[in-house]
Amino acid sequence: MPAITNHLPTAELQALDAAHHMHPFTTGADLAAKGARVITRAKGVYLTDSEGHEILDGMAGLWCVNIGYGREELAEVAARQIRELPYYNTFFQTTHVPAIALAAKIAELAPGDLNHVFFASGGSDANDTNIRMVRTYWDVKGKPGKKIIIGRKNGYHGSTVGATSLGGMSAMHAQGGLPIPDIHHINEPNWWAAGGETSPEDFGLACAQELEQAILEFGEDRVAAFIAEPVQGAGGVIIPPETYWPEIQRICDKYEILLIADEVICGFGRTGNWFGSQTMGIRPDIMTIAKGLSSGYQPIGGSVVSDEVAAVLDSVEFNHGYTYSGHPVAAAVALENLRIMEEEGVVEHVQTVAGPYLAEKWHALADHPLVGETKLIGMMGSLALSPNKEPHATFAAEAGTIGYICRERCFANNLVMRHVGDRMIISPPLVIAPEEIDILIERARKALDETYARAK
Ligand code: PLP
Repeated sequence: MPAITNHLPTAELQALDAAHHMHPFTTGADLAAKGARVITRAKGVYLTDSEGHEILDGMAGLWCVNIGYGREELAEVAARQIRELPYYNTFFQTTHVPAIALAAKIAELAPGDLNHVFFASGGSDANDTNIRMVRTYWDVKGKPGKKIIIGRKNGYHGSTVGATSLGGMSAMHAQGGLPIPDIHHINEPNWWAAGGETSPEDFGLACAQELEQAILEFGEDRVAAFIAEPVQGAGGVIIPPETYWPEIQRICDKYEILLIADEVICGFGRTGNWFGSQTMGIRPDIMTIAKGLSSGYQPIGGSVVSDEVAAVLDSVEFNHGYTYSGHPVAAAVALENLRIMEEEGVVEHVQTVAGPYLAEKWHALADHPLVGETKLIGMMGSLALSPNKEPHATFAAEAGTIGYICRERCFANNLVMRHVGDRMIISPPLVIAPEEIDILIERARKALDETYARAK
């Protein structure tokens, strides 16, 4: 076999890839027919592919490369940590400086009394931790009946058995006989898709009150927790009406239900604050973190829990952990990422420069004949593609067909935007500059024009 390097022709790399590499969320038929896009390098907000295209990454990888690509400081820290202590675990009363320092830093940044971190390798396994944590919490508190966790339809919490169950993606549930028992889903606050004649405010309230109805149906002595993303990401960047979160918080408080905010996307600046919970004005008992924690440079995630939850769990041995919980290299890189974010004022950049500038340009896309709704919060946004610009309207073509065409036209114009059905979504690196936002918008508009021409 020849050495497999960037120097091999794209077609050869694609053939080897299709022969041996199984991809997430990809069909083998697509790989065989078209091959995968081969990304070879990245710098700032740009990716380079094996054909030499410079592609503006409007998704920050998978919503994670918040400080942009190619930061030397992170490479240096990783190399130093590998030389000093490449691995040790945090089981059985052992620790190391990177895990200590990162946990302390997260506690400092996190709102309220969320002062304790249980590390994982990403968001999915952190959410699996959460399932065991909240059920153990109620067991220890003498309420073992509280087992049910309520999530949302179309929510996304990861791909493990537990995290897929918490999520509400029906196509994922269909594979593997999920959800696991004692997980229930209420509707998502997606006014554009389902609001009907109701005002967004009333719709938001009604969606939140589904939580109360579910609690009353099951009985509050059986419900352990509610989990949701402050802003649904993979579901299509669904920004809830303003009435939604205050009502959810009221219900969780009233019935003693733990609130888990899945901050895997929203955390670390994405919504214009360090955490989406701050943007939405909620007080979670547990936050799931990953992605932006290390800007995707190392796989690391975790559960950040309140003083009270930690005190209860600390009163027993929590029989749970991952070989890579608090991995020293991942922790050191994450800590350096957070140092850079603070030193360079990345969250302030989102609040005062990039966020407002992107908002102005993004909402201006509403004049496009294919765009029904534009939504944006901080640096995550969506466009509802529409046949007639009316709320709730759907295309004659099967759902997702036009969105798929638009995604492909984005690629053809050297822009990564994702589609969720017929919704286009963006989540660029937080450090993106106004000039780069101009390029993003110019390419998005061109892709929309080309999609419109094909959709007619
Ligand atoms: N939670 C949310 C909100 C996510 O968006 C994701 C991934 O996109 C996850 C959890 C899963 O994280 P991971 O892919 O790191 O396991």
